[in-house]
Amino acid sequence: MIRNFSDYLQNFSFHEIYQKIQDINSNPNSYKKIEQILYDIQNEEKPTWEEFLYLISKPALSYLEDLAQIAYKITRKRFGNAILLYSPLYLSNECKSICTYCGFRYDNQIKRKTLTIEEAFQEAMILHKQGIRHILLLTGEDYRNTSVSYLSQITETLQQYFSSIGIEVYPLREEEYRFLRTKGVDSLTIYQETYDPIRYKEVHLQGVKKRMNFRLDCPDRAGRAELRKIGIGALLGLSDPQTEVAMVALHAQYLQKKYWKTHITISLPRLRPAENVFNIPKVSDHLYSLFFIAIRIFLPDVGLVLSTRESPHFRDGMIPICITQISAGSRTEPGGYSGYDSTEQFKIEDNRSISEIVEMLKKKQLDPVFTDWVYAVK
Ligand code: SF4
Repeated sequence: MIRNFSDYLQNFSFHEIYQKIQDINSNPNSYKKIEQILYDIQNEEKPTWEEFLYLISKPALSYLEDLAQIAYKITRKRFGNAILLYSPLYLSNECKSICTYCGFRYDNQIKRKTLTIEEAFQEAMILHKQGIRHILLLTGEDYRNTSVSYLSQITETLQQYFSSIGIEVYPLREEEYRFLRTKGVDSLTIYQETYDPIRYKEVHLQGVKKRMNFRLDCPDRAGRAELRKIGIGALLGLSDPQTEVAMVALHAQYLQKKYWKTHITISLPRLRPAENVFNIPKVSDHLYSLFFIAIRIFLPDVGLVLSTRESPHFRDGMIPICITQISAGSRTEPGGYSGYDSTEQFKIEDNRSISEIVEMLKKKQLDPVFTDWVYAVK
């Protein structure tokens, strides 16, 4: 019986999928196949996951414009002009894990800080004053300093001010997700970072994060706990990006089928410079755009999230095509909104204020939405 995505993955091998995509990339017949898929999509046929592999292949870049137009139409039809705005609130940069790509890693000598409940409240209110009603709480992997009880006290304090409180914290057990749901948490973001088991081992050197399947099955535990929204993704730059995107799409499709009441979102953060993180592999803007566009076509109902990791130029071009949710005015260090002295997780590229983002959206005839759709304004 398939209880978790890790069971489901027994039938798929990262390496085999990688090989399949390489074959599509180099086969001259792929162009013909993509044209056939395009024709079918225009005749309302949904692509299969095997066909999706063609849509994220290098030959598909020759059809980027056609694919973008299809993605645009699907997005407007399913989501109208709404773009949901949210802001991250880093509660802590303390972490017991060592991930080679992250500024918060345990062995980095950085300025550490965990906000008190009062400080977290003040930070949240700064965002609230600017109109934000959808907040994402983040921590490192420090189960003691940022315990479930600590998180629950914060969410209980904030729930009357925010229509949606999400968490992007260390992996929890199903009953802990259930408990936090009763304290106001309605969504979970958890990126697998990499679906490549060999790379996963290489980049996760210490801590709970070393347990790949415990992380992989987090969205299942949150789904069983009936969280309203679950966000997944991969950190592009750790392994082969096309194969990572193929896995993310497979994972999202699995979650959509299994937890049909839960809204699934996808984000594809690209690796960014951070404290002691160098040699960032480049995923080209072209290929990166293709990934979002192809996902929109393959999974028309998933939310697509684009954060302030990306440049204003890239975000402004991409948002109207297929994005449904963006962060705004972000700081990635605990206490960043109040001006505390602590180290950020990574450098952001889009430093515009929330009001500047709102202006930009309006100019593009998009509707900035502050309140998550399902809940009434508080
Ligand atoms: S990615 Fe998360 S778990 Fe890994 S070092 Fe950074 S904060 Fe810690």
